[in-house]
Amino acid sequence: MNHFSLEKGELYADGVPLERIAQQVGTPTYVYAGATLDRHVRVLHEAFGRERRLICYSVKANSNLSLLERFAKAGAGFDIVSGGELQRVLKAGGSPQKVVFAGVGKTRDEMVAALKAGILMFNVESAEELKALDAVGQELGVRAPFALRVNPDVVAQTHRHISTSKASKFGIDFKEARALYAESKVWRGVKAVGLDFHIGSQLTKLAPVKHALAKVAKLYRELGAAGLHLTHLDVGGGIGIRYENESTPTLQQWAKAVLEPLKGLDATLVLEPGRVIVGNASVLLTRVLYRKKQFIIVDAGMNDLIRPALYEAHHEIVPVRPRRGAKRAVDVVGPVCESADVLGKKRRLPPLEQGDLLAVMSAGAYGMSMSSNYNSRPRAAEVLVDGDGYRVIRERERIEELWRNEV
Ligand SMILES: *Cc1c(COP(=O)(O)O)cnc(C)c1O
Repeated sequence: MNHFSLEKGELYADGVPLERIAQQVGTPTYVYAGATLDRHVRVLHEAFGRERRLICYSVKANSNLSLLERFAKAGAGFDIVSGGELQRVLKAGGSPQKVVFAGVGKTRDEMVAALKAGILMFNVESAEELKALDAVGQELGVRAPFALRVNPDVVAQTHRHISTSKASKFGIDFKEARALYAESKVWRGVKAVGLDFHIGSQLTKLAPVKHALAKVAKLYRELGAAGLHLTHLDVGGGIGIRYENESTPTLQQWAKAVLEPLKGLDATLVLEPGRVIVGNASVLLTRVLYRKKQFIIVDAGMNDLIRPALYEAHHEIVPVRPRRGAKRAVDVVGPVCESADVLGKKRRLPPLEQGDLLAVMSAGAYGMSMSSNYNSRPRAAEVLVDGDGYRVIRERERIEELWRNEV
């Protein structure tokens, strides 16, 4: 569900007409609906009821400070994948005790910073990484809390670029994990506190989740029986959303699928949702520049939203003020000098004229956070709508900022 809707023939973000934002802030601009963000956090909390659990919003989905601050105030923790994301969370007022640190390539400096900040746990992805963490812990005279990220080896049924199957670089297989937990018991710089997995992103089927959970819950119990007392079971993120016509489980169904295999397990559940919280809470607002053949050339490109080019992802495209007239199939493309710079192919849209505004829907996750300056294009502005007001939460980048670190 989201708070973008057509009212009296024009598209609104909650109580604000998108046209007003385009006039005042310019385009391209990411527009977030605060009410949708709040709703998703609330529904997720409710779905997991009174279970002992911690919702760690996955910062990489969208790392704007204003959004992080909002989630921190709603009681969320954070799933980070770099030292940069750690600093963002701290800057936004997030509690380090609710931070989990994922990723296959944490550097020594990142480990030191996270350990000093006092994060909840490191989700460790290899034996060598655990050794490195142990060395850092010993140097600082503390035992770094960790979970091993295991790879349950299930087929996630999602796009190959966002699945984390056994052939990917992610996770440790169960056999090696068992050995590593046992071996590391006597290491003085680390302390096992949890078990972690994450099978992929944009999951729209529950079967792979249930399958993975059953395997991981069994391992958690086994480790307990072997005398390893863990306190946290981290089930990752990956909850899929509707971009086009996917049928997705409700969050209640999702929660049920997660909780059932864990019945009776003595663990605090950690969830790492990203996309499901921010995805449908934003549109990318863009203006039509030119028309030629079947192409509608707009002022937002793959540098602003790379998902269609990178993942063959579908985003609905909606005119902000739909004109009357017969629809025809068009390709909505950006200005970047790449044939892959397509936002939507073969879309049946009503007549469009130069200067018309389009909203690229469901652009809140992996949109702005994956944007770049390719073609020396300044990054888009970001706007947050609450009720019938809005504020700019990231200024449009200025051209001079593009070379500030160059000689
Ligand atoms: C990316 C990622 C997430 C968030 O995934 P979503 O699909 O956005 O929910 C959670 N955990 C890990 C380890 C990730 O890499």
